[in-house]
Amino acid sequence: MKILQTQTLRGPNYWSIRRAKLILIRLDLEDLANRPSDTIPGFYNGLISVLPSLEEHHCSPGCRGGFLSRVQEGTMVGHILEHVALELQVLAGMEVGFGRTRETVTPGVYQVAIEYQNEAAGRYATRAAHRLCKSLAETGTYPEAELQTDLEDLVELRTEAALGASTEALIREAEALNIPWMELENCDLHQLGYGKYQKRLQAALTSHSNVLGVELACDKERTKEILTRMGAPVPLGKVIYAFSELDNAIEDLGGYPIVIKPLDGNHGRGITIDIQSKEQVEIAYDRAKDISTGVIVEHFYQGRDHRILVVNHKVVAVAERVPAHVVGNGKDTIAALVEQENRDHRRGAGHDNILTHIQLDDATDAMLSRQGFTVDTVLQPNQIGYLRATANLSTGGIAIDRTDEIHPETVWLAERVSRIIDLDIAGIDVITTDITQPLSQADGVIVEVNAAPGLRMHIAPSEGRARNVAAPIIKMLFPPGTPTRVPIVAVTGTNGKTTTTRLIAHICRQVYDAVGFTTTDGIYIGDRLVEKGDTTGPLSAQMVLQDPTVDIAVLETARGGILRSGLAFSQCDVGVVLNVAADHLGLGDINTVDQLARVKGVIAETVHPDGYAVLNADDPRVAAMAAQVPGKVAYFSMDPENEVLRSHLKQGGIAAVYDQGYLTIVQQDQVHRIEHVKQVPVTLGGMAPFMIANALAASLAAYVQGVTVKQIQAALHSFKASEQQTPGRMNLFNLGQFHVLVDYAHNPAGYKAVGGFVKNWTGPAIGVVGGPGDRRDQDLIDLGKLSATFFDQIIVKEDDDGRGRAPGNAAELIVQGICQGGAESAASHSVRLDEAEAIIWALDNAPKESLVVVFPDNVSRTISLIKARNPIVEKPEEA
Ligand code: ATP
Ligand code: ATP
Ligand code: MG
Ligand code: MG
Repeated sequence: MKILQTQTLRGPNYWSIRRAKLILIRLDLEDLANRPSDTIPGFYNGLISVLPSLEEHHCSPGCRGGFLSRVQEGTMVGHILEHVALELQVLAGMEVGFGRTRETVTPGVYQVAIEYQNEAAGRYATRAAHRLCKSLAETGTYPEAELQTDLEDLVELRTEAALGASTEALIREAEALNIPWMELENCDLHQLGYGKYQKRLQAALTSHSNVLGVELACDKERTKEILTRMGAPVPLGKVIYAFSELDNAIEDLGGYPIVIKPLDGNHGRGITIDIQSKEQVEIAYDRAKDISTGVIVEHFYQGRDHRILVVNHKVVAVAERVPAHVVGNGKDTIAALVEQENRDHRRGAGHDNILTHIQLDDATDAMLSRQGFTVDTVLQPNQIGYLRATANLSTGGIAIDRTDEIHPETVWLAERVSRIIDLDIAGIDVITTDITQPLSQADGVIVEVNAAPGLRMHIAPSEGRARNVAAPIIKMLFPPGTPTRVPIVAVTGTNGKTTTTRLIAHICRQVYDAVGFTTTDGIYIGDRLVEKGDTTGPLSAQMVLQDPTVDIAVLETARGGILRSGLAFSQCDVGVVLNVAADHLGLGDINTVDQLARVKGVIAETVHPDGYAVLNADDPRVAAMAAQVPGKVAYFSMDPENEVLRSHLKQGGIAAVYDQGYLTIVQQDQVHRIEHVKQVPVTLGGMAPFMIANALAASLAAYVQGVTVKQIQAALHSFKASEQQTPGRMNLFNLGQFHVLVDYAHNPAGYKAVGGFVKNWTGPAIGVVGGPGDRRDQDLIDLGKLSATFFDQIIVKEDDDGRGRAPGNAAELIVQGICQGGAESAASHSVRLDEAEAIIWALDNAPKESLVVVFPDNVSRTISLIKARNPIVEKPEEA
């Protein structure tokens, strides 16, 4: 048994729309291909002894133990691997439960889809499940030690990937409000919302955080100066840079007790408080000096430590922070009490847990000795032993909610201070003997103002009420009623995606300032190409959604990207499905047109409940997708008599239809004639039926997105199938004596579509045809057969890149097809393998009034060859 391929799906996909995060493997069962689990000696017993918790998997029987009974009765090992991979993740603390296993057309080769929370952990669990199942099949066991290592590694991957506590809280709040988010890779930034509505986060720093405010808060001395000037109480003190200045500084403060801390410090590092003597001062000075050249000497304020969290200049939470300490019980030593305390499941390493482990080190020893203790002291019942001088959570402190107790004057002061420092999210540290009194009456001071304050002490205080402080932060970024997503129009289908996407983008320009769109030719923001290439996958879509200037996204969404990694978005506002026809069959384990329809159907299934699926009523597979659409449906059709269309209209639906030469939108009893095809250049005066269909789809998509009929009409006038607007798609050139059409058709449906136009041409038609080498033999034969039905003369050429075929081989198959056309096709043919040569020959020998149709491999080369013959530039149509 071996894994042939591993893919990571990150968005709605062929396997699931909702459970979109999946590891997908191709698994070759090899020697196990014909051996269900009941025929493998010891497998069942081995499995239940290694992973007894599989009992919880219901599987198809739908009850506890369901899956294990299937293993007992006999199921294929691929299916078992799926359940094992899920269970390993669950055991490592990642709640997952969705999986699918399907045999491919290759006997013994399976596709297995396994849900994950964290990509790296999902891939690891899949590999581990493979090892485990293989070992069970070969030996009936899997060593306990290996299982332990697997689980430890999984836990490590999970913790490594976990978001910080503050970020996690903010992201969960955004999710609860259905605000999309994504990680901006390698930037340590998170984006909330799409396009021009986006806001960014980095822990508790946001797009609204002001760099001047952040820098001011990070400079404790400047903060104190400005607060003093504004009349806010701050500790008395000064900054010194040399040991010789120390005595004077202490004298200025009126003597001990004092505090010494580094000028540029954080997390309580290098701070010594409650210094009472000359010798303590010297040690303290050195500790601070190790961290920073400047040293703050301050009066020591007796009192308790508080953090006031101010969001958008409103106090949203107050926490009292108590330094790490233990409470005696009359029998255990301090060391033992610390150990017990650290066993609290809320405590962990670093900032990621609610609380942090208490470390015993020099600082704790010093603190204990000041109270006359050592780690071996046994404290009296209820006697407190402090382990740290400062209350930072990161050194083991705890937090107690005091939001309801703070005095209103201090609330007012804190809100004023957040404006003085100019921070959207400020953590104000206050020392006071009594938080219920004004600072002035309780010897209170503001010790410092923190930018990017930690949120976990408020979200999960060790005592008192938990405060959802993420909510006001998200509300500040997105006040109720403000949009968070730019509309997404996604376009899929076998043929016409790029043309329709461009046309929709063009229509949307009438209304939106910056349309971001992706196509097979590249990514465009506004009118500009920002990246060339086949950009129809999720990364390209993401680029558009991440662009802060974009106000609507129109995304060509091809089969390849959906299969490879799923969609980049979980919902679209308009999902257009143009058609489904045989193309790319045999790739990505998609072998039938029905399977292909399920791939394209992902777009229809992702339509937002208030959005629209724009479906082709003339294509039964597309029309049938209506049943899966969570939102509303709008149909387009070339035929006013189409049954699906008629019944849809009867029920009050919206549709676009080609009726008596007009592109028409019908909604209930309203009929809007958009324009006659003669005035719609992209349809080549109505001679290219499939372009009429594309124009209907585009108009309908724009209409349901709120563009008016007038605006659509204006846009249709100015959109041509020209080599500038749709290079390689129905570009017609007038060479005086004859015309040349360049079109990128590359599958039977595309050829048929162009055939529809050729048949409307009155003069003789010459085809320069070829097909991509990676298609099946039969596809190439069919291309030949089809061409013979509408060309009088055919020149067969090949692509520059044979994609795995020997030169001449593809051409031979196409010729075979032409000859099979039989009596119906009287086309003469010749073979000229080199594309440029074939085109030149055709242009040199084209009869008068004829139409030369080139299906190019290299579009730009073909167009230059034609332009070299000075085509006549048509006068722009009068509007
Ligand atoms: P953090 O990064 O956690 O905010 P920090 O390194 O920035 O810490 P400060 O906030 O200045 O340091 O001080 C840390 C703690 O030390 C305070 O919360 C308070 O408990 C104590 N402290 C600091 N200055 C004084 C003072 N003048 N009087 C009494 N206690 C003080
Ligand atoms: P690709 O899969 O290469 O990205 P696409 O779906 O983006 O293709 P377009 O580039 O718009 O399609 O058009 C490619 C060709 O497909 C056109 O040149 C034309 O021959 C044919 N075609 C376009 N629209 C249709 C349609 N609605 N029905 C059938 N064929 C079409
Ligand atoms: Mg502080
Ligand atoms: Mg395309």
